[in-house]
Amino acid sequence: MHIPSRRNGCSAFAESVSLPSAAERFVRLPVSSATQCSKWFPRPRSLCAFAAAVSNTLTDKSVARKDNTTDWTVGYYSNRIEPLRREDGVRFPLTEDEEAFRASVRDFCARALPPSLKEKVEAGVDLDRADYVGWQQTLGAGGLLCGAWPKSHGGKGWSALQSYLFDEECSLAGAPWLLPFGVNYLGPVLCEFGSEEQKRRYLPGILDATAFWCQGYSEPDAGSDLASLKTRAVRDGNHFVVTGRKIWTTMAHWADGIFCLVRTWAEGKPQAGISFLLIDLKAPGVTVRPIVSMEGRHHLNEVLFEEVRVPVADLVGEENAGWGIAKFLLGNERLLVAEIGKQKRTLRLIREGLDHLRDRGAPLSASPWVRERLAELDARLMALEWTALGIVRAADSGAPSPASVSMLKIRGSELEQALTEFAMEVLGPAGLHYDPHLKPGNANPVELRRNGVIARLLAARATSIYGGSNEIQRTIVARALLGV
Ligand SMILES: Cc1cc2nc3c(=O)[nH]c(=O)nc-3n(C[C@H](O)[C@H](O)[C@H](O)COP(=O)(O)OP(=O)(O)OC[C@H]3O[C@@H](n4cnc5c(N)ncnc54)[C@H](O)[C@@H]3O)c2cc1C
Repeated sequence: MHIPSRRNGCSAFAESVSLPSAAERFVRLPVSSATQCSKWFPRPRSLCAFAAAVSNTLTDKSVARKDNTTDWTVGYYSNRIEPLRREDGVRFPLTEDEEAFRASVRDFCARALPPSLKEKVEAGVDLDRADYVGWQQTLGAGGLLCGAWPKSHGGKGWSALQSYLFDEECSLAGAPWLLPFGVNYLGPVLCEFGSEEQKRRYLPGILDATAFWCQGYSEPDAGSDLASLKTRAVRDGNHFVVTGRKIWTTMAHWADGIFCLVRTWAEGKPQAGISFLLIDLKAPGVTVRPIVSMEGRHHLNEVLFEEVRVPVADLVGEENAGWGIAKFLLGNERLLVAEIGKQKRTLRLIREGLDHLRDRGAPLSASPWVRERLAELDARLMALEWTALGIVRAADSGAPSPASVSMLKIRGSELEQALTEFAMEVLGPAGLHYDPHLKPGNANPVELRRNGVIARLLAARATSIYGGSNEIQRTIVARALLGV
């Protein structure tokens, strides 16, 4: 197979050398030669084309495996193709300052992340509120929790790339998911649209992780079509009276407050009558009901409002101007959703897990189909990483295009699902076992990591739904590409 010739850094290479032999040579070269090769792929697009070609090639072979006449090709190629690795010299170019920043976050995590918490995260044990909040408070005390906020509001003014590196290093270190509701969603909204009083009142609690927020956008009949939301807020003197129902509200049962989209005007375009309101979850008239998701965990909720009185002072921005704020926030949500660091961690854990598995006496990691899938997933991850870094780098010199962020969301969620499916495949029936009571201390580490693979697989189904479903993202990409 030839890489299609393109007007980019690898076109000359593509015309003269065929894959997989080139890929094979490239990945098996010593580091110094691999670095030479990387000069042929000077720009992210080039590498992505290369990684995609490797991925396609390998996918072709798996089709071939089902055909008895070409079965041998699997063994032939799989025994030669090693997964591409960043340390082989294929690295996204970072400045010295960015490398130093990355190293400082890595050092911080190595010093500050409690080993017991890391063990729980890597084993996929259900974390409790104290685990999340404790880690966020540690980051807050180290001045790292809200680094992306402007300095004028208590942040460090990190670039988008620094935020990306921070997120990646925390994930690679085995830190818990950084709850985004206050830090990445409400905080930036308040910095941009909040009144001075709102900033004074709410930002400190997010900065030191003493306030826990959740997001109240979706309703039973308003998910993808968010603008059709019906929870209404009627003005009554210095208050809004809120009545309605939110659903799929992540961690509302732990939260102190909810930022909500509410309808304040029922005439005209649906988008024009929406406002952004902060609501105390302990206010009279609020009920939080649990929803247990299909992996058997409780992190989702339904939130009901029955004539809840909310001070007008907690309206963010102008009345009926909430749609613009909602879109500002959703842009941040999707940029983060590819979670490259977490995906790298998952792939590493799968690799480590393979060391403990055997297939008819031989290590499973030596099986051609396993090597083939690992190489494919590695190539997809690397392509995603370079794409994400390119988009994040571009975001530092202007807002990224919505279509590029949507693409990241689609590819990131698909890869997360593919990784969990692969983990399940290699474990076979052993992967079906899930005991929610297994924890560090009452199970050995191998048993603990295996436990919960099915829960992760089921939980990963949600990644193509939340943050805007993948079908909706595809429509955004199609509109941008086709100009319709
Ligand atoms: C784990 C999880 C956590 C969540 N956390 C939160 C949270 O904290 N706060 C919050 O507000 N929301 C949250 N959500 C809700 C999430 O944002 C919505 O589920 C999502 O926007 C989809 O809406 P919906 O579920 O109503 O599906 P629907 O909009 O009813 O869609 C159903 C199906 O139809 C497809 N579809 C709909 N419209 C179109 C179209 N125009 N073209 C093509 N296909 C279409 C969708 O892609 C989907 O497959 C969460 C969801 C999940 C699964």
